[in-house]
Amino acid sequence: MSLIRSLRRVAAALLCLSPAIAFSQTAPSASLTVVHCPALFDSVAGTMLGPTSVFIQGDKFQKVEPGVASADGATVIDLSGVTCLPGLIDDHVHLDGQFGKNTYMEAAHLNFANQVLRSTLYARRTLLAGFTTVRNVGDTDYDTVALRDEIAAGNVVGPRIFTAGPAISTTGGHADRTNGLSLELQGDPGPLQSIFNGPDEARKVVRLHYKNGADLIKAMPSGGVMDLGTNGSGPQMSQDELDALVATAHDYGMKVAVHAHGAEAIRRSVIAGVDSVEHGTFMDDEDIKLMVQHHTFYCPTVYTAVYVTEQAKLGAYPPAVTAKALTVGPQIMNTVSRAYKGGVKFAYGTDAGVYPHGQNWHDFIYLVKAGLPPAYTLQMATINAAQLLGHDDELGSVTAGKYADLVAVPGNPLDDISVMSKVNFVMKAGVVYKRDGQEVLTLE
Ligand SMILES: [Zn+2]
Repeated sequence: MSLIRSLRRVAAALLCLSPAIAFSQTAPSASLTVVHCPALFDSVAGTMLGPTSVFIQGDKFQKVEPGVASADGATVIDLSGVTCLPGLIDDHVHLDGQFGKNTYMEAAHLNFANQVLRSTLYARRTLLAGFTTVRNVGDTDYDTVALRDEIAAGNVVGPRIFTAGPAISTTGGHADRTNGLSLELQGDPGPLQSIFNGPDEARKVVRLHYKNGADLIKAMPSGGVMDLGTNGSGPQMSQDELDALVATAHDYGMKVAVHAHGAEAIRRSVIAGVDSVEHGTFMDDEDIKLMVQHHTFYCPTVYTAVYVTEQAKLGAYPPAVTAKALTVGPQIMNTVSRAYKGGVKFAYGTDAGVYPHGQNWHDFIYLVKAGLPPAYTLQMATINAAQLLGHDDELGSVTAGKYADLVAVPGNPLDDISVMSKVNFVMKAGVVYKRDGQEVLTLE
């Protein structure tokens, strides 16, 4: 058989596959499990329920009943002294990297394979911290597409992933990985490396992401802190570029998240119809009004801003990054507070990877410090995050028919939000990954 014919056969076979490959595995037995929760957070109502029995059949919730109930032949998991919550969702992570003191040097010598292997550890830590679903908003060369599929196939332990693939940027923009390199090494990355200029290339780069398996689009219409460019917040995409990018993504059913610090970049993005603004540091009153009007979600990544400010003071970054971190970082608490009071809808997004993976709980603490009610921060990390993903029909609450993602913390997070750092029970799609604070081995 010729090569072309072989490829055609493969292509024909692939066309018959369901696109829902991300959810096709984990295939727990269809046996019935009942989890007895002394208390359960109702993420839809934003209230705490008393003792509740959660019935799980296969990978889905079957029913939820008040009190202590069971059924013939059911496996009972009796959780005492805890509060149960829906599996947590972090809508802003970077699972294939983690900043450390060697990061900028490693960019030159770390092999891509090493980076991918590390991502499996970061994914496992994230799941064991209670985050059963994440949105990966920026990777290197689609490695989190592979990570997503290997987790879904049961070959790697980690959260359910929705990924944007590599973040999209303009020449010299925040996601241009050649920033700061010698002129010989910079070259012109172009659309194949997720760098575009002009509306036509914006359409092309979005279509390439769709073709390469991304679930959504992450664009960088403003400068940022962690790259080696000098401008940390100015606009880096024109209105016509953003309009073309967002309209094309939406044509393909892909949502758009934008990294934007400066007020003008936020304004252009919201007008173009993006689904979420990440960071939003210098959001002004007009931006807040526009976001409310356009139902644009805000992922504040609050702890990352605090963390990079602390790290910059310790001399952890190169000079260009330090200068930006000290300007951008300290603004965030005030912005979060103003945006919440202004009526903007929030989803939980941490930027884990800028700080160590598995510590995604930090944002709960700082969001409460910024004045948000604890119950709202829990809704941000459950039902709101699921809505932003466009998957609140199957994720984000303990509701019959949704994926059986359930976690527990020792204590009541409405009284003491810091218990979110002590997740001691984790179930994803009906499979228990952590119990009594210990990891349960699930790989054979
Ligand atoms: Zn990020």
